[in-house]
Amino acid sequence: ALKVTDLKKHYADADTNVFDGISFEVPKGKVLVIVGPSGSGKSTLLRTIAGLEPIQGGTIALDGRVIETGRPGNEKSGRVKRSEELRTKFGMVFQSYDLFPNKDVLGNITMAPLLVQKRKKDEVEREALELLERVHLADRAHAKPHELSGGQRQRVAICRALILHPEILLLDEITAALDPEMVHEVLEVVVELADAGQTMLIVTHEMSFARAIADRVILLADGRIEERSSDAEEFFTHPKTERAREFLHSFD
Ligand code: ATP
Ligand code: MG
Repeated sequence: ALKVTDLKKHYADADTNVFDGISFEVPKGKVLVIVGPSGSGKSTLLRTIAGLEPIQGGTIALDGRVIETGRPGNEKSGRVKRSEELRTKFGMVFQSYDLFPNKDVLGNITMAPLLVQKRKKDEVEREALELLERVHLADRAHAKPHELSGGQRQRVAICRALILHPEILLLDEITAALDPEMVHEVLEVVVELADAGQTMLIVTHEMSFARAIADRVILLADGRIEERSSDAEEFFTHPKTERAREFLHSFD
């Protein structure tokens, strides 16, 4: 399980904290969906968990082991120091797929396991092909990113994260930059991952997808968790707070 306790985040030069102490837990194999208005700190939250941003208070723990302890004043943006073993426990996919343009699909997926983990090439390529099969792209292994649609590129980005066997997959609005007709093919892959037991934290503006996939939901606003529910259906149909009702209505 991932356990975040009293997390505080402040960016250097900012007037206020992004978070003033938020806590939540994601059990192994479960999906937490984080929703909230623009600027509420959803991306910041995922980035701190992934170790791409330091925290200034609280702790982040994985399977009972504290992996990050916030220190006030530690505000310099950028990756925090984590062991290679810890770093690969988190996989992140962003809104804009940043695939390497001069490498083909297979090359993009196998790069980190070959260069960073020094795994064997034939074994890594076999696994990459299996992953491509899972996201229905086995026939595009040798295509260059510019030859793919946005939805296909985003599925390659998912494979690139999965090949490192992350314990937790962090997805930050991975369909936000896609044409509407491509959103479905990407979300379908994410649903299959959830069914296979992949632990995930998902930030999304696709409310029907959120409702379908979430085991738990958090509404972030103004640096706080304004509402939380371990019953996604209940959250989306009968939100308890005015803030949540307002937020959900903005999608009607
Ligand atoms: P959106 O839905 O628009 O993606 P978000 O919920 O992901 O928004 P964040 O990007 O996490 O929000 O931003 C939270 C707050 O932190 C905002 O006020 C933003 O301006 C600020 N912020 C984000 N990144 C930085 C940064 N690198 N330096 C300073 N302030 C930042
Ligand atoms: Mg964001």
